[in-house]
Amino acid sequence: MKEVLKELPKKAKQKQNENKKFFTKLKKKPPKNLDYVMQELHEEEFTKTDCLTCANCCKTTGPLFTNADVERIAKFFRQKPQQFIENYLRIDEDNDYVLQSVPCTFLGSDNYCSIYDVRPKACREFPHTDRKKFQQISNLTMKNIAICPAAYNIVEEMKKRIKV
Ligand code: SF4
Ligand code: SF4
Repeated sequence: MKEVLKELPKKAKQKQNENKKFFTKLKKKPPKNLDYVMQELHEEEFTKTDCLTCANCCKTTGPLFTNADVERIAKFFRQKPQQFIENYLRIDEDNDYVLQSVPCTFLGSDNYCSIYDVRPKACREFPHTDRKKFQQISNLTMKNIAICPAAYNIVEEMKKRIKV
């Protein structure tokens, strides 16, 4: 996995133009069964890729924390939301709560998340490859394929299966 992650930004860059063209066409005319295909591709990929051998999302980009996330996680730590914010979060340029630093404080050396059951919604949903109307998040996906080997593989498979 280490080697895969090292090569990933370069590989994602090489695919940039091809992916851009693909997603532009996909957005114009998304196939009717796109949600279904994405669900299938996502499930197939995650039977092969084990996030516990990777954790690159937790190491390199943090999630944003919604108010509901803050309340839930603060409660887990038996802290007041404000106390949790002061301890772990900052406000970024888009006015969102994000981690003060990466790798994520809650990531263990064994790649397990210490707040897994109450983790932010953004962590639960990353890399968003099973979300509905996938064509609407193509810009985000093009960024994510440089971070997430599963997202990279899913997009490669997508281009084979969906003719645009
Ligand atoms: S979601 Fe992607 S980047 Fe995050 S741990 Fe799993 S494979 Fe790695
Ligand atoms: S909260 Fe957990 S899943 Fe989310 S980035 Fe941190 S370690 Fe990863």
